Amino acid sequence: MTRHTRVPPAPIDFIDLKAQQRFIRPQIDAAIARVLDHGQYVMGPEITQFEKEMRAFTGARFALTCASGTDALLIAMMAKGLGPGDAVICPAFTYTATPETIALLGAEPVFVDVDGDSFNIDVKALEGGIQAARKAGLKPRAIIAVDLFGQTADYSAIEAFAEAHGLWVLADAAQSFGATSGGKRVGTFGAIAATSFFPAKPLGCYGDGGAIFTDDEELANIMSSIRLHGKGDDKYDIVRIGVNGRLDTIQAAILIEKLKIFAGEIEARERIAKRYTEALHNVTKTPVVAKGNSSVWAQYTLQVPAERRSAIAASLKAAGVTTQIYYPRPVPAQVAYAHYPVAAEGVSTSERLSTEVLSLPMHPYLSTDQQDYIIEAVHAAIQG
Ligand SMILES: *Cc1c(COP(=O)(O)O)cnc(C)c1O
Repeated sequence: MTRHTRVPPAPIDFIDLKAQQRFIRPQIDAAIARVLDHGQYVMGPEITQFEKEMRAFTGARFALTCASGTDALLIAMMAKGLGPGDAVICPAFTYTATPETIALLGAEPVFVDVDGDSFNIDVKALEGGIQAARKAGLKPRAIIAVDLFGQTADYSAIEAFAEAHGLWVLADAAQSFGATSGGKRVGTFGAIAATSFFPAKPLGCYGDGGAIFTDDEELANIMSSIRLHGKGDDKYDIVRIGVNGRLDTIQAAILIEKLKIFAGEIEARERIAKRYTEALHNVTKTPVVAKGNSSVWAQYTLQVPAERRSAIAASLKAAGVTTQIYYPRPVPAQVAYAHYPVAAEGVSTSERLSTEVLSLPMHPYLSTDQQDYIIEAVHAAIQG
């Protein structure tokens, strides 16, 4: 048995942000120094430049930077005028920020189940979401599709459903920036797409950051105004309620440098995910990427037997391999969200996933030795 023959050089981090920083530190230092020199810390030239690069990268007509992925979702829904009495259908298995922004506007999240292969909203569950909204006396207005763990939701089916029911689609692309579907890049799905540059996301800055994408010029103008306190033609002309939702110039400067190496990082993530899957699909359920999709592998998430998950995680921890559970509870099982409507069919897949998911270390700088070590440790942990 090889399980104790390899010793990791050091505990393997879940995400090693320092490895990337070592790789591009001089460029980052120079980019930050340029901002310190020109002194335009808020809405400086790097913001305009990065937004231009984001349009080129995604193919979206409009790209606006903002302060976080949460603000991106919030600004998108403010621009669409969501408020009390409105329902937004969203998956039960997601990060809190998705339903949080709906609730902040006084609208109500209506939770539906996800698919056990993609972890994304189950298109068959959408109808139940509409019925639950109506039953609660709410007007269904929108669907937030979440691209969980790095691959897009099934936008062609979701958008067809939305159109048939007079809803609009917001893509929560916080985990999928850089992914593609049918050859199109994230940022072009949904009426509006929202992403995050939180450090641990596939494209992360060194603090909080986010971006909003749309092809609709009028919406882009409204969102741009909301991001700057609802400003009109000039700073002291206020035409709507807005927020302070700007990205810092320093973060844009960092992102410009990081975008230069992002394509290579995505390739590395894909290579690592492929090795994990080849080595592990015979011992446990490995992630499935839908045909025509590419994932940026924000997470590499196994499904292991619920009754063995803590033992497996403990065994990996003892071997120096950090794992995480995203997410230990579906959102409707959280105290703060327990009173919102859930589709009558329930969210049993979300409930099951929350007991079975286990995410492995995933970042572009995992060496082949580290990958091999992790793979062996997972084999040993699962075989107990
Ligand atoms: C991270 C995340 C967000 C929020 O992004 P922040 O930049 O942290 O505000 C929203 N939705 C999902 C699915 C996320 O993973």
